Amino acid sequence: MKKQPIKFSEYPLIVPNAKRLSKKMDKLISDLKACQTANEAFKVINKINSYFEDLETETSVIYVLYTCDTTNEQYKKAQETVDELSPLFGKYSTDVQKILVNASYRPELEKKYGSYLFQKYEAGLKTFDEKIMPDLVKENKLVSEYDMILGGAQLEFRGETLNLSQLGKYMQDKDRETRKAAAKAMDKWLSENEEKIAQIYDELVHVRVEIAKKLGFKSFTDLAYLRLGRVDYNADMVKCYREQIAKEVVPVCQKLYKIQMKNLGIRKPQYYDYNLMFASGNPMPAGNKDYLVEQAHKMYSDLGPESKEFFDFMTKYELMDLEARKGKAPGGYQTTFPAYQSPFIFSNFNGTQGDVNVLCHEGGHAFQAYLSRNIKVSEYRQPTLESCEIHSMSMEFFAWPYMDGFFGKDAEKYKYAHLADSIEFLPYGATIDEFQHWVYAHPDASHAERCAAFKEIENKYTPHKKYDDCPTLAKGTIWMRQSHVFAVPFYYIDYTLAQVVAFQFAIENMKNHEKAWKKYIKLCKSGGKYPFQELLAKNHLRCPFQDGNVRKVIKPLERVLKGFDTSRM
Ligand SMILES: [Zn+2]
Repeated sequence: MKKQPIKFSEYPLIVPNAKRLSKKMDKLISDLKACQTANEAFKVINKINSYFEDLETETSVIYVLYTCDTTNEQYKKAQETVDELSPLFGKYSTDVQKILVNASYRPELEKKYGSYLFQKYEAGLKTFDEKIMPDLVKENKLVSEYDMILGGAQLEFRGETLNLSQLGKYMQDKDRETRKAAAKAMDKWLSENEEKIAQIYDELVHVRVEIAKKLGFKSFTDLAYLRLGRVDYNADMVKCYREQIAKEVVPVCQKLYKIQMKNLGIRKPQYYDYNLMFASGNPMPAGNKDYLVEQAHKMYSDLGPESKEFFDFMTKYELMDLEARKGKAPGGYQTTFPAYQSPFIFSNFNGTQGDVNVLCHEGGHAFQAYLSRNIKVSEYRQPTLESCEIHSMSMEFFAWPYMDGFFGKDAEKYKYAHLADSIEFLPYGATIDEFQHWVYAHPDASHAERCAAFKEIENKYTPHKKYDDCPTLAKGTIWMRQSHVFAVPFYYIDYTLAQVVAFQFAIENMKNHEKAWKKYIKLCKSGGKYPFQELLAKNHLRCPFQDGNVRKVIKPLERVLKGFDTSRM
């Protein structure tokens, strides 16, 4: 049920309960089954949607409360209850979808809701069957085991005990010996954990192949694409896209790396040297959290009336928890509370350029959620994952004119590093994606064969990477640190697809801000009403799959990069 917006601190904590949930849903499902006409069904569907919105709001509130304070026993217990109930939520939504897909009055439903909704339902139904439940449990358990190894990593470094993300800071240190020592510590940790992680991955690959077989798919790859809701593109189209990256983007990156190493004065660069963009150090924000939020407020107010309203809303209702605190879960995310029609931003500010990125990137996600909040069909409020990242990554570029405020004297440094990093990300993303296609095409390969394949792919996209001091990484093992490979197979390429679209907004914004911003608002407002390619076509954006489009997007950016004098930064 829709509620008036209130401050987040005033949200009630409601823990869903299996008995209540089943009672309510069993009744709604039997009502839906009894419907003879579309008009009868509409009423029941509305009731179901409103109940699902309440449930989603309750579980989102619990997740935010828990991640903001993982030491609170009440929140922890509530989160455990939600985790236990999640297969039950899944079962009921599958039941509803099955009834609607097979209903005699389906044509009338399609007329009202659009046929894409039914395409989504059908894709979803193909990925699930009760007989794979035990395999899904196994798959989740393996992913949790992997998360625990990575999350629980404790590395000894110069007398300190660090986790992997803390070590990351030293990997981009100004001092080369420090970077090298940090890289070696990482390599040592990986060598000690390689066997365990390889075993988990092997089991994951096999259980996924088994699930695909039970559901009648030729390969897990096809199933994985449907799991991601990719109803309008396939592995061949993604391959054509990756080939464009190899041909058009890799040479540009190699040139950028040469300039970078010349500026740093490094003759024989190693993979850890590329983390440092400037000899004077990476750009630093010009102030603390309150200062940065004030800058963000100025930026969103200046960009347009919609974004002003959005950011006023976020601050008025206290929908951001930004600072790192003891007991807070790591990382950053954006979520929504559909019953209150409110987004929420969670992050761990740590005084680096990443803090500004949160306000722009997660801000972009939240802005889209805010603009799509009134879309009636809840499944249409958010698009598939590759499209979601367009909103956030484009906002990073709309933020460029405001970087003087965020970074002061480091503004130019930030802009160059942001654009160069974003371009250099594409070949890495393609590496991770091509590797996964190889893995599921050769499911019985050994760990050594997987690493050899990775090394070959890595060489194709990032030939500059040298691992002389790191024998384990030199074998082709860096993918073992990329959690997406374990948790959500084939997801990673989405970030690169979105990046290529966000670049188009970057270019257009430099030419004509008014026009670019209007186009962006329209894109955000259309939420998830269309699949990826249709969304691009409707908004006059170049599709990355079409041969030649990656080149058209990268060329003007090369010219932008040439406008920076990095030797003086
Ligand atoms: Zn994002």
